[in-house]
Amino acid sequence: MIHTTNPADIARLPEAYRAFYHECIEFIAESQMFCDPISTLAYGTDASVYRLIPKIVIKVSCADEMSRIIRLAGSAGIAVTFRAAGTSLSGQAVTDSVLLVMSGGWGNCVISDNGDSITLGPAILGAEANAYLKPYDRKIGPDPASINHAMIGGIAANNASGMCCGTTDNSYKTVTDMKIIFHDGSLLDTSDPASRAAFLAGHRDLVATVENIRDEIAADSALSELIARKYKIKNTTGYGINSFIDHRDPIDIIKHLMIGSEGTLGFIADITFRTIVEHAHKASALIFFPDMAGACHGVMQLDRTVVSAAELMDRISLRAVEEKPGMPEYLKTLDEDVTALLVEVRGENHAELDGKVELLKQRLDGLPTVFPISFTDVKAEYEALWNIRKGLFPAVGNVRRIGTSVIIEDIAFPLERLSEATVELRRMMIKNGYGDAIIFGHALDGNLHFVLTPDFTKQAEVDQYDRFMQEVCSMVVETYGGALKAEHGTGRNMAPFVEMEWGATAYS
Ligand SMILES: Cc1cc2nc3c(=O)[nH]c(=O)nc-3n(C[C@H](O)[C@H](O)[C@H](O)COP(=O)(O)OP(=O)(O)OC[C@H]3O[C@@H](n4cnc5c(N)ncnc54)[C@H](O)[C@@H]3O)c2cc1C
Repeated sequence: MIHTTNPADIARLPEAYRAFYHECIEFIAESQMFCDPISTLAYGTDASVYRLIPKIVIKVSCADEMSRIIRLAGSAGIAVTFRAAGTSLSGQAVTDSVLLVMSGGWGNCVISDNGDSITLGPAILGAEANAYLKPYDRKIGPDPASINHAMIGGIAANNASGMCCGTTDNSYKTVTDMKIIFHDGSLLDTSDPASRAAFLAGHRDLVATVENIRDEIAADSALSELIARKYKIKNTTGYGINSFIDHRDPIDIIKHLMIGSEGTLGFIADITFRTIVEHAHKASALIFFPDMAGACHGVMQLDRTVVSAAELMDRISLRAVEEKPGMPEYLKTLDEDVTALLVEVRGENHAELDGKVELLKQRLDGLPTVFPISFTDVKAEYEALWNIRKGLFPAVGNVRRIGTSVIIEDIAFPLERLSEATVELRRMMIKNGYGDAIIFGHALDGNLHFVLTPDFTKQAEVDQYDRFMQEVCSMVVETYGGALKAEHGTGRNMAPFVEMEWGATAYS
């Protein structure tokens, strides 16, 4: 059935939006435009706790349509928000204005250099990209846990990352080229010298602004050092301003600023990534330490020359999944403070794999563990271990009280301070009435998640969350020099805290 719009829904729009709707309908099919209560309600949802209902939803099918819509919206002063898969957790994929959803086109994929490079449309799923690269034993760098559902546009615009990519294989580090549609509808193809020249000539003010910021930062050694230091760990709080110190060419700066810009600087119409090796040989071990400090000390002995991933799961996390089908029986028998590290080693061949397993055992030698360390390279067995980790966040969502929200926080500490910081975090959670909340995450990157399920219909729970988060933010930033968002993007959630984390100079 072809969707048509009820004239009453158009009539209800505020005047500027009604005019915008009529201008768009000149070149967008009516079946791609929605302003009825049900469609706009449905699209007013992402994976965050926020609900904003867009006034108009447009399914945009090609770059030409996108460019014209953005230009029109810009001249009418109407805000637009892009939507890929809508799995964002910080409220960056919802709006009460105009939502532009990718539909139809945007699925191009070109593999070049024998799999070393891949150009992708923004609506390709991350997992699809990896399926295309599989015959070359390559994969894209960014690896959010949501990779089966998240699209390339959202992955790049959030600088999403996961268990293995760390700070070296994320979109920021692996992007090589991009096609960008700007606020004025113009398109820059960074791989095309003619397009670069036309952009430089046509956007002199913008380019001068970018160069001025670059030079101002270079002249301010304290600011340059702050930026360099903060990006040693994962950080998605605010724009990726490391672009200004890592690159000189204004187009290279703009291209890298687009990563993590959450759709606020322009639209990524396609992106080229340098790919990374997908090792054929893998083995995993679930290592149990007597307590949180022990597990953190364990991970602090490791790095990516030994393991490709090391995921921490506290006792409360393990309890959240221990009743699920397929979970090992012994999970139920663990003591109260036991904390697990799920590690993975990868190699080109068995010898490399064995060498890394041995190295890991040497590095952890002397640290008490509940059971002897035992690796498995049997696919079904290590997949069962990783299912424990993958089930955590959904498990908490499933068992929460009806009417509550599920909020996943996403902080990072410098690895060398992980142990003291995590112990302090747990103390703070207990003090603020969140003692039953799970702590887990990408410990190898100092990146921890904790999941809260407050009932925001109760003012007391709003106040409790507020008090707790103010304390957490000051602990993360002031005590440990950490990041308030490591991989989930700033969004509405962390926007009020960007200046707190970065200070007035960087923020301005
Ligand atoms: C269960 C679960 C697990 C998750 N695990 C992880 C994880 O491990 N690591 C992690 O980093 N994140 C994780 N996330 C968060 C989220 O899935 C990722 O950030 C993902 O990359 C978002 O992709 P998306 O396609 O859903 O983008 P969306 O949510 O639709 O959009 C993301 C942002 O990008 C903008 N945008 C979208 N497309 C474009 C474009 N073409 N050009 C410019 N801007 C654009 C949007 O406006 C928005 O600001 C998880 C989410 C869930 C629900």
